[in-house]
Amino acid sequence: MVETVETDLLVIGGGMAGLTAAARAAHDGLRVVVVEVGADVGGSARFAGYAWTAPSHEVMDAVNPRGDAALRHALVDRFSDGIDWIRSVGVEAQEPVTLLGFGRGHQFDTNQYVDRCRQLVLAAGGEVRLRTETSRLLTEDGRVVGAAVTGPDGSAEVRARSTLLATGGLQGDPELLRTHVHPLAGDLQLRANPHSAGTGYRLATEVGAATGPDDAGFYGHLVPSGVAFADPSDFVDLSLYYSEHALLFNLANERFTDETLGDHLTTMALLEQPEARGLLIADARVHRDWIVASYVEGAVALDKFAIANRRGGRVGLAETLDELAYLPEEWGYDGAAIKAAIDAYHRTIAAGGTPEPGRRNDPSPIDEGPWYVVECVPAVTFTFHGIRIDDQARVLGTDGRPVPGLLCAGSDSGGLYHRAYAGGLAPALVFGLAAAATAASALTR
Ligand SMILES: Cc1cc2nc3c(=O)[nH]c(=O)nc-3n(C[C@H](O)[C@H](O)[C@H](O)COP(=O)(O)OP(=O)(O)OC[C@H]3O[C@@H](n4cnc5c(N)ncnc54)[C@H](O)[C@@H]3O)c2cc1C
Repeated sequence: MVETVETDLLVIGGGMAGLTAAARAAHDGLRVVVVEVGADVGGSARFAGYAWTAPSHEVMDAVNPRGDAALRHALVDRFSDGIDWIRSVGVEAQEPVTLLGFGRGHQFDTNQYVDRCRQLVLAAGGEVRLRTETSRLLTEDGRVVGAAVTGPDGSAEVRARSTLLATGGLQGDPELLRTHVHPLAGDLQLRANPHSAGTGYRLATEVGAATGPDDAGFYGHLVPSGVAFADPSDFVDLSLYYSEHALLFNLANERFTDETLGDHLTTMALLEQPEARGLLIADARVHRDWIVASYVEGAVALDKFAIANRRGGRVGLAETLDELAYLPEEWGYDGAAIKAAIDAYHRTIAAGGTPEPGRRNDPSPIDEGPWYVVECVPAVTFTFHGIRIDDQARVLGTDGRPVPGLLCAGSDSGGLYHRAYAGGLAPALVFGLAAAATAASALTR
């Protein structure tokens, strides 16, 4: 027999966005049911550490000019309310620090936060169902009225005034990645929880939701090639954040992007290069200042070069640039051509010129031996293509109007960023709170 459950807000996906919405709605007196496919709640949020975004509209507009204007401005405007909410549930958010050169944000204990949100939901009489799959949304007269779910105790129809999709994105589905990110994207290593494989996306499109934008890109980082993630701690330990101070060469032995704009942007650019792999070259200065130093103020420093070496990555140490000529042939690069390109780069900056591509944020020479060489590939955390929403977290239909009863927040949504990134936790927080507010107002209508 199929159980029937009545609730005010059904949340599909118990990570940063879903639990934020659920806890806030429970706090505001709504009946809440959370269904989570994993054995525990938390999702990728458990691996994250900083809620951050651009500190002003000007900065957001400069770094993310093609993102949906209403969403990107709502994120900036409501970010501090989000931090207040985190603090209000008894989780400490540290003093602000700078992230990715332009962002501001707060370190907080995401594990404590998601566990606290779950407690709040349960304490208010809500439910959190684990190991529970969602097969389809329920609809009546063009309105989403809940979902059909199956868990360890059998199947249920959860009938809800509002239903929130918060399954964390589609990056776990190679086919969706190939279709909506890049033909080579299906082979990317997954730098995120394994469950976020497009369920929210499929449920939304089945009821006529708009998706997009195509070619918006993704958030991820460079990692050493040929090194599989052994466990989630590798998501950070193997990320080569220092690439923005190094030089990156493709298989044509050419630089192809301004690396100094950020490792996350270089990661997107590398996906479009031949075989989506490249040779990252740092010198002793970069090693000293960026590889073995703390990357974000207060974060633990890890020697990413040493880790890549230990883990069997394609790694080399060159005492002189001439030694690049001894790169293993099977890697496919021409070391002499790369040396010539580095020499040309140095001649250009010594003459006061601008190298091509530019080096906007760090035009320093890479001329202090030894040189640290790592072959790297992109890894994906979440995509910027997703379900279209408005700033109240309402899912938009292909006609541009809200799909009644259906909400979405976090990495399931698309449109906020376009070939740009300014935080993943912050939008999950801000639009999770927006979803709770929209669900509350649906009760009074
Ligand atoms: C290593 C790492 C470090 C990061 N660091 C930062 C950082 O410092 N700052 C920052 O801003 N962002 C960071 N991020 C990104 C951030 O974690 C995500 O942007 C954020 O967690 C997105 O929230 P979400 O709720 O959309 O997804 P998640 O938090 O991943 O939650 C999605 C949930 O949905 C569940 N789910 C999936 N499919 C289903 C289904 N079919 N049914 C039910 N449940 C389902 C998942 O199991 C998961 O629990 C990091 C990510 C990683 C991987």
